[in-house]
Amino acid sequence: MPIFEYSCRKCGHHFEKLQKGAEAGVVTCPSCGSDQVKKEISAFSSGNAAPAHSCSSGG
Ligand SMILES: [Zn+2]
Repeated sequence: MPIFEYSCRKCGHHFEKLQKGAEAGVVTCPSCGSDQVKKEISAFSSGNAAPAHSCSSGG
């Protein structure tokens, strides 16, 4: 399931929240309870550190 990261703009608390289907409501900070939260973009793609393209130097 998709997990969205949020960052509170009031206290700076960083938390994650699960979005269950069409449950797009107001997200509040679990720390201070403020609704001034900012959605962070989390990169799920984490894996091998392989080069995108290997170019062999040639003449
Ligand atoms: Zn907060």
